[in-house]
Amino acid sequence: MNHERSRELYGRALSVLAGGVNSSVRATKPYPFFIERGDGAHVIDADGNKYLDYVMGYGPLLYGHDLPEPVAAAIQSHAADGPMYGAPTEIEVELAEFVARHVPSVEMLRFVNSGTEATVSAVRLARGHTGRDKIVVMQGGYHGAQESTLVEGDANNPQPSTAGIPEEFAQHTLPIPFNDPDAAQAVFEEHGDDIAAVLTEPILGNMGIVMPVDGFHETLRELCDDHGSLLIFDEVITGFRVGGLQCAQGKFGITPDLTTFGKIVGGGFPVGAIGGRAELIEQFAPSGDVFQSGTFSGHPVTMAAGLANLEYAAENDVYDHVNSLGEQLRSGLRDILADQAPEYTVVGTDSMFKVIFTRDGATDRGSQCGAGCQQDPDCQHYDHCPKTGADVADADTERWERLFWQAMKDQGVFLTANQYESQFIS
Ligand code: PMP
Repeated sequence: MNHERSRELYGRALSVLAGGVNSSVRATKPYPFFIERGDGAHVIDADGNKYLDYVMGYGPLLYGHDLPEPVAAAIQSHAADGPMYGAPTEIEVELAEFVARHVPSVEMLRFVNSGTEATVSAVRLARGHTGRDKIVVMQGGYHGAQESTLVEGDANNPQPSTAGIPEEFAQHTLPIPFNDPDAAQAVFEEHGDDIAAVLTEPILGNMGIVMPVDGFHETLRELCDDHGSLLIFDEVITGFRVGGLQCAQGKFGITPDLTTFGKIVGGGFPVGAIGGRAELIEQFAPSGDVFQSGTFSGHPVTMAAGLANLEYAAENDVYDHVNSLGEQLRSGLRDILADQAPEYTVVGTDSMFKVIFTRDGATDRGSQCGAGCQQDPDCQHYDHCPKTGADVADADTERWERLFWQAMKDQGVFLTANQYESQFIS
């Protein structure tokens, strides 16, 4: 494949954009391909190379790059009316009504402009509501580029995971292993009265895809109830992708106090949202005393794209279709890789998937492991499935980055460049 034009664009980008990109994960080695346009399930780069796209904008694109006609029409009509106003519009009410109608725990929302902004605001709301400072997060979880959650280590020794965050900030964040009810119990025993919220993705989607084991979310729900803390589900990835219009909370039958959304709810435009019971969401300004505001929040073009996107999903068998494609792909991958790369685990659910190059040589796992297994203790391969972020980090992550990703790219398949981020099917 010729990449001359991408190489040249990257050279220019390096002089005017930090690392040549506007989001760190895009700086793939030796240089990223620059995309010119999308075409159905494919993207076409600046040199005219065509790739099958399993990145899908890191999750927002449920329909690929050719939007269904009503979605495209809604976007064009709202953009043509004038991009935005700084005053309320009907379309933001309609999208909020749609989400509240379908997502079990949501009565009210506040729209923002990114997943990061949603988790920042949800944490502030939890702290404002409880009058407490500490937040429990999962090791290997990701909640955007924000001060309260860019923290590593454990609950006894939390440390900022990046330069630029004061150590004092990190002291308020308590990381525990995902799927470890004893660790959750222990952190509440020690800090229960100071914990404002537990913030977790229902499925770890930025750590190779780790499914919750049976009972883990129930334990978190009980601990939060017993201690007067809020349970926040970060459904930025899983929202309107896993569990259809009810999201992952509907699939797992758990009712969080607050939910953060992003990605699909904006139909491919910048978006975030915080949803929950009315008495909680009303604590945002101006009805409450937790400050929250944004010039672009509830942007009419984003709201129109999000609403048309979700209405199309409600009126057509979108989730059945895309989830069955997911099942077909995961099962095909298991069959193919059982011969080729026996040290692997296929993980995922609904329209998410990933192959993890697990290291411990459990060569018999191939044909049967993967989706669902992590939730079934009776499965003979249960022990081999990753259950924590650390299990995934122990995999041969180099193999994905240096060999697999590059080789797939050369074959015309676009995947996320690292072992950790999920792949998406449109
Ligand atoms: N939460 C989760 C679970 C995410 O996966 C992401 C981004 N991938 C974010 C929050 C942050 O969203 P954004 O990149 O839109 O700020």
